[in-house]
Amino acid sequence: MSETTTRTGLARELLAVQLPDGIGVCAGEEVFAGRGTLVELRDPARDELAAEWRDPGAEGAEIALELATEGFRKWTGLGPSGRADVLRATARVIESNSHELALLETATTGKPLRDTTAELRAVVRMFSFYAGWAERINGETLGVPDGWHAYTLLQPFGVVTAVTPWNAPILTAAANALPALAAGNAVIVKPSEFTPASTVRLARLFRTAGAPLGALTAAPGLGPTTGAVLTTDPRVGKIVFIGSVETGRAVAAAAATAGIPSVLELGGKSANVVFADADLEAAAAGALSAVFSGAGQSCQAGSRLLVQKSVHDELLDRMVTGVGRLRVGDPMDTSTEIGPIVHRAQYDRVTRLLEVGLERGARQLNDTALPRGITDHPFREGNWIMPVLLDRVTRDNPLEHTEIFGPVLCVDTFDDEAEAMARANGTRFGLAGAVWTGDVSRAHRFAAGAEAGTFYINCYKAGHPLAPFGGFKASGWGRASGRGVVEEFTQSKAVWLPTRPLAAPFPSLEGVLDPASAIDGGRG
Ligand code: NAD
Repeated sequence: MSETTTRTGLARELLAVQLPDGIGVCAGEEVFAGRGTLVELRDPARDELAAEWRDPGAEGAEIALELATEGFRKWTGLGPSGRADVLRATARVIESNSHELALLETATTGKPLRDTTAELRAVVRMFSFYAGWAERINGETLGVPDGWHAYTLLQPFGVVTAVTPWNAPILTAAANALPALAAGNAVIVKPSEFTPASTVRLARLFRTAGAPLGALTAAPGLGPTTGAVLTTDPRVGKIVFIGSVETGRAVAAAAATAGIPSVLELGGKSANVVFADADLEAAAAGALSAVFSGAGQSCQAGSRLLVQKSVHDELLDRMVTGVGRLRVGDPMDTSTEIGPIVHRAQYDRVTRLLEVGLERGARQLNDTALPRGITDHPFREGNWIMPVLLDRVTRDNPLEHTEIFGPVLCVDTFDDEAEAMARANGTRFGLAGAVWTGDVSRAHRFAAGAEAGTFYINCYKAGHPLAPFGGFKASGWGRASGRGVVEEFTQSKAVWLPTRPLAAPFPSLEGVLDPASAIDGGRG
């Protein structure tokens, strides 16, 4: 039996343990079995049934809310040091279970084991990082007028709901739950219905590491049923939504109507801009990994390439050679670089969009026949789309403005810097972008002018919890990381007290109910 077959078998066994028939809500050891719609989890590489579970719906959401409301009291009662200890302990527990978690993630997302293993390392680091923050949430003493002392307390909202997408489930669950947890909130994560397993496992491990019941609850369920309750219930103090622009806006609008504020982390259509003076070797490699890692299913994928006309052929020749070498294959194989599309509906969407792009004048540059091993059983049936380089995706092509969320790079040319900037900023999105150039001044001009929450110079896709991550324009509001992110999940409270006797509030009360009398010990 090959190593990859063994890993697939192990992952299926793990899935059966994480998602026994009927699982709904998991706050560690507590489980509520859903009774709603049956949801199938299919292996994206083979399109085979891997596991199934039932939507917990409003009933399950209610249980999650009760658990989290109670969990908040216990979690906040631990105090900053107690919470930091649990977060540190969780980092260690996740580290020792990271291979199992990576297998689970690969089994449901189809993301290569190489990538999920790296994501697990990042999750471990995040838990340690936010353990530090939990002990550093300080209010401030305010410079108010003489006679007064005033300070602020930064206090948690209570229950925070995080709704996450399917492309990087455990990474987005950790990245978006942790700032809220560090600030003392209890968190309910509603993972995507396509990829709930690793979030359920995360909730279990958090509890194993010593977290109180309900501090972190996984509530896998469908959006319009379970998700809708968890984002509008008055017991929820704030929501953070990670997903598409359309769903995000609808969820935020419903939450706002219920009086619940939101952070929105949405999609993108980010551009890599390559000037003739760039290191073309580095730009070619960087632009390929910017769009094709995760098979293009990444919010900040560099899914557009704008290249200065004079170096178009040279750059694209290198990229065609490079794309042909990418190792597309079984995600359980540790040497695989590109896996399948996560689910069938998304596979259908990407193939449809590709047809639209070609009909509207784009030209495919590379051969996209499936390599051996994919056309052969058992992968013949999976959601496989080979990386595609699409040239001549002009401004009027719908693909220029549509987030494809698949392995498709839209390429076009520009003449000068002004045109490049206008084109890079010419979509409704504003998540990320990059410039490749040997001219330092131009690089910084571009960074300043780009309408994007993250911008890279001669590189793509760096990240750290200290760096803010979030969108400009339609790509969202609020930030998922960076200096202010923990405060994003606190409410500041101003506390006042007088340091000198107060004047009587009403002259008629002077000497009778005059607060100054109390402070002075009375005036006789
Ligand atoms: P989606 O918007 O379809 O779903 C996201 C989540 O919302 C899922 O968990 C879904 O069940 C839930 N949902 C749906 N309807 C809901 C409702 N009425 N109430 C509450 N929850 C509801 O997105 P997707 O297809 O899962 O993910 C892909 C999208 O996510 C892409 O646009 C991608 O760019 C974006 N994304 C953004 C970031 C970021 O940090 N900016 C990160 C990853 C993915």
